[in-house]
Amino acid sequence: MTFEYKGENLYFDSFNLSKIADDFGTPCYVYSRNLIESNFKEYQAAFGEREHLICYAVKANSNLSILKNLKALGAGFDIVSDGELERVKCVENSCANIVYSGVGKTEAEIENAIKSGVGCINLESRDELKMILAIAKQLGIVLPVSVRVNPNVNPNTHPYISTGLKENKFGVPIEDARELYELASNSEWLVPIGIACHIGSQLTDSNPVIEAVREVVHLAEELKRIGIPLKDIDVGGGLGIKYDNESPPSIRQWVSDIKSCVPSSFRIKIEPGRSIVGSAGVLLTKIIAYKDNGKRKFAISDAAMNDLLRPALYDAYHKVLPCIRKERRPDFLFDLVGPICETGDWLAKRQDFSVSQGDLVAIKDVGAYGFSMASNYNSRPRPPEVLIEMDGTARLIRTRESVADMLVLETKHL
Ligand code: PLP
Repeated sequence: MTFEYKGENLYFDSFNLSKIADDFGTPCYVYSRNLIESNFKEYQAAFGEREHLICYAVKANSNLSILKNLKALGAGFDIVSDGELERVKCVENSCANIVYSGVGKTEAEIENAIKSGVGCINLESRDELKMILAIAKQLGIVLPVSVRVNPNVNPNTHPYISTGLKENKFGVPIEDARELYELASNSEWLVPIGIACHIGSQLTDSNPVIEAVREVVHLAEELKRIGIPLKDIDVGGGLGIKYDNESPPSIRQWVSDIKSCVPSSFRIKIEPGRSIVGSAGVLLTKIIAYKDNGKRKFAISDAAMNDLLRPALYDAYHKVLPCIRKERRPDFLFDLVGPICETGDWLAKRQDFSVSQGDLVAIKDVGAYGFSMASNYNSRPRPPEVLIEMDGTARLIRTRESVADMLVLETKHL
């Protein structure tokens, strides 16, 4: 059981959350290594003997200890920036299992990626192809590439995390991709090795992905006919998790659906992020004050939108649990809000348990796009990250930022 009350205390992955708050303070991100690893292993088991590479999407949660643990299990990585590349290089000697995605890679980023020997750069435009070609030529390094195509498929998710429609900035329209493959394969410096697509995130239905993957396989077969054989079909990430009432397919089902539409001559690359770490994290926060403004009740927490942006950005739902068992109060609905000077600074709405000053609460399912989206807005230092290890101990994996950490890049210029 991931969450359970033992006596009055809320346990997450068999660890008493109040004890973590005592030891590390609040706000504080807490992850379960056990859950992260079992999600990753479920992907591996679902692929079985089928040729594949699981490239964990670093953007979902880029903490070095998490990357290190996933690498030890055999993960490759999907990255989108120089910073993410350098993170992976802290835990991995070879960059051969790295896929470099991203709609706007700079010259400096591309140069570092090529010199580091990344396994594949996913091209997102004709301009990018020209730029990468020029840099590879200048460095005298031959580079494996794929084209990320935009298959124009509606993934039925939040518009901010839909990426595979013509109105989205991502990828190359599938009808233009052939020209890019011809340019790449006619050059001395680029070797096309695959096709990539990623149509969106938090998907709860595999049908749009199946539709997109079929388009991609069709293009790969057409390219083979004109003398450009490819090895990899990169299906992106996207599998959703259950935040509320969603019922996403299991990892096993998702992979099985994808496998069924990719011929076995291809290797399948997959770039999951949320489905590996999302449900494996909680954000602990303490109630600073409670107030009733006559129309609405507010519990003001020491965590805010700078710590967890998803509610403010996507109107995202996260369930909140009291760390000391509380009576349910459907008649007493309150909003959990942060101390930031924005009306949009809310973390959860209409919670139905009794709450008062000093209470500790846990915001569920924040392992993905939680800390990795955190900022210093309102000059708030970012929270620490703690990992519950397999042996049941809780280990600090990122120190709480201090005000001095935040100021150091400016004080030296005074
Ligand atoms: N791959 C690419 C190219 C992405 O843009 C993303 C996320 O937006 C992912 C993989 C990971 O998606 P998810 O966390 O939904 O699995």
